[in-house]
Amino acid sequence: MAKIQMKTPLVEMDGDEMTRILWQMIKDELILPFIDLKSEYYDLGLKHRDETDDQVTLDAAYANKKYGVSVKCATITPNPARVREYGLKEMWKSPNGTIRAVLDGTVFRTPIIVKGIEPCVRNWKCPITIARHAYGDVYKNAEIRVPGKGEAKLVFTGEDGTRIEEPIFSFDGPGVIQGIHNTDKSIESFARSCFSYALDQKKDLWFATKDTISKTYDRQFKEIFETVAKSYRERFEAAGISYFYTLIDDAVARIMKSEGGMIWACKNYDGDVFSDMLSSSFGSLAMMTSVLISPDGNYEYEAAHGTVQRHYYRHLKGEETSTNSVATIFAWTGALRKRGELDGIKDLMDFADRLEEATLKTIEGGVMTGDLCRITTIPNPKQVNSLGFIQAIRKKLEEQMEA
Ligand code: NAP
Ligand code: MG
Repeated sequence: MAKIQMKTPLVEMDGDEMTRILWQMIKDELILPFIDLKSEYYDLGLKHRDETDDQVTLDAAYANKKYGVSVKCATITPNPARVREYGLKEMWKSPNGTIRAVLDGTVFRTPIIVKGIEPCVRNWKCPITIARHAYGDVYKNAEIRVPGKGEAKLVFTGEDGTRIEEPIFSFDGPGVIQGIHNTDKSIESFARSCFSYALDQKKDLWFATKDTISKTYDRQFKEIFETVAKSYRERFEAAGISYFYTLIDDAVARIMKSEGGMIWACKNYDGDVFSDMLSSSFGSLAMMTSVLISPDGNYEYEAAHGTVQRHYYRHLKGEETSTNSVATIFAWTGALRKRGELDGIKDLMDFADRLEEATLKTIEGGVMTGDLCRITTIPNPKQVNSLGFIQAIRKKLEEQMEA
């Protein structure tokens, strides 16, 4: 069969450890035999980031901005232990942070649902996507440990000398204070990414804050979302989807009773907390995809998990691993489908669908990696190793293509 041709290159960002091993296997077994892959390759492996003084990460991010779509392998975020392990010149910043800063995007995380891996919440039938606002609030706070009796005030001094003052509290004794902020620009770009992704996915969009208590701060979020909602109203109606706003506690109660299927836009802290709740209740971090979308329409697809370090060390010792490649495969299919959509290549979009189907059918047929064997409801699952799993998917894919 002739390989599928591409027009625009896909920006390919290679990464570290076990996921780098999986990356090569996925390309060799599931991509290159079927697609005449046009990619612009960036090696974001830690060693190469160090050799290039992390320039390669910036280059990759700008390539993403130029071409629109990238697929990224998990990468090590250096900490002091990694600086020693790799003899790094510097403790380079998180590549994901660098890429996000260039693209100014929002991260959407969606669980991959498959028969045999059932969510803990019985009524969740469809995936729930979480969109986390990744700027400000408590993550960029200023804090004071109050030593004793005294006055706390919130003060703003404008460039033009305007002064706004608000009392916080009159302390009788020791305590704590925290100052947090956000900007209209960041909130609006978050809102735009959410509305645009909801439209792209044809899914309802939910947003919630605590504006009854936080009458200025949270209310600003609510109002900006409402303004953006207005500009999307007709397109949402045409797509048959809706925007729903409620209080955060009400949203949580409703989500638990829902069938799922919505995109849930969360303020920074809510997104941090609820994405972990969601990934554990949907089964496994290895079954969670992640896409970064910028307000001007650039896409970066990746798995939500890290480099699976413990498996890599076993791999280095020559031991067999059973590492789950599903989220990384779905990062590739997400990117290929989007590339196909933007370039009008239907074959590429169909291939992405088929590869996802083959992956899910493999698991539903009882062949899976160790992490899934431990939680599946399928009787007598067959545990395979990392390569065995990918080869089983290839076999299914080839069967489907012949059928
Ligand atoms: P991790 O790589 O996600 O792994 C945590 C644990 O989750 C693993 O030890 C494994 O459990 C399980 N797991 C995760 N993915 C799996 C998979 N595909 N198949 C099977 N099991 C899987 O997180 P980490 O160990 O905290 O971090 C390792 C490195 O990844 C760090 O250097 C961190 O900086 C980096 N990281 C990168 C990204 C990114 O690039 N987006 C995100 C997070 C972390 P068992 O060992 O019990 O089998
Ligand atoms: Mg968290």
